[in-house]
Amino acid sequence: MLLELDNVSVNYGTIEALTGISLTVNEGEIVALIGANGAGKSTALWTISGLIRPRRGRIVFAGRDITRMSPSRIVALGISHVPEGRRVFATMSVQENLEMGAYVAKGGRKTREAMERVFGRFPRLLERRRQLAGTLSGGEQQMLAIGRALMSRPKLLLMDEPSMGLAPMLVREIFSIIRELNEQGTTILLVEQNAHMALSVARRGYVLETGQITLTGPAEELAGNPDVRRAYLGA
Ligand code: ATP
Repeated sequence: MLLELDNVSVNYGTIEALTGISLTVNEGEIVALIGANGAGKSTALWTISGLIRPRRGRIVFAGRDITRMSPSRIVALGISHVPEGRRVFATMSVQENLEMGAYVAKGGRKTREAMERVFGRFPRLLERRRQLAGTLSGGEQQMLAIGRALMSRPKLLLMDEPSMGLAPMLVREIFSIIRELNEQGTTILLVEQNAHMALSVARRGYVLETGQITLTGPAEELAGNPDVRRAYLGA
């Protein structure tokens, strides 16, 4: 088991955004976390990344308790976050954005190697490496956000709504990138409102409803579940 959340609760003031959620991600898996707006999906990812402290519960990554670790230590251990809405640094170049993802050994040989790997995967970023990130297209910004997360060579990638606001063709491209990254050894926890696409790449899934996990199982089982179909697959 690579990641385990055990009974994790998160509050924003008096509002409980997550109520005792437990989930696991095994090494090599793509696990989908699906749910409606405001269900707490982003909150779950921020909490794993150490950006929000849980009120209760425990988070274990690769055998280590990371519940109270700083975000930078969590990145160094091998968790990387692709935030919702492709939050690239708009006034920095593509290359500078990638450097920001390199937490370790900035400017050194490791950073250059990591950048070459990212450019190898996303040739379009290489062509545009001096362009300001804010002037990239939506799909290119998503690739940059993914590339930046890959700079720290994560074992586990947390992806928050990578398909949001993208045209169908680009959605397919992003999902084929997700599949490829996974085939090359990256474990992925994928948050998506596009439940159809998410369940088509994932091995297992969890349904989050108002801060609680209400359903879990193999992705194809969830995709065939009448409640899931009605609520998330528009059937
Ligand atoms: P979406 O798909 O719309 O992004 P989500 O499932 O990712 O939704 P979250 O963004 O995690 O949901 O939000 C969960 C709940 O917590 C929502 O009710 C939201 O309004 C609330 N919330 C999120 N961030 C804050 C905050 N900083 N302060 C107060 N409440 C917050």
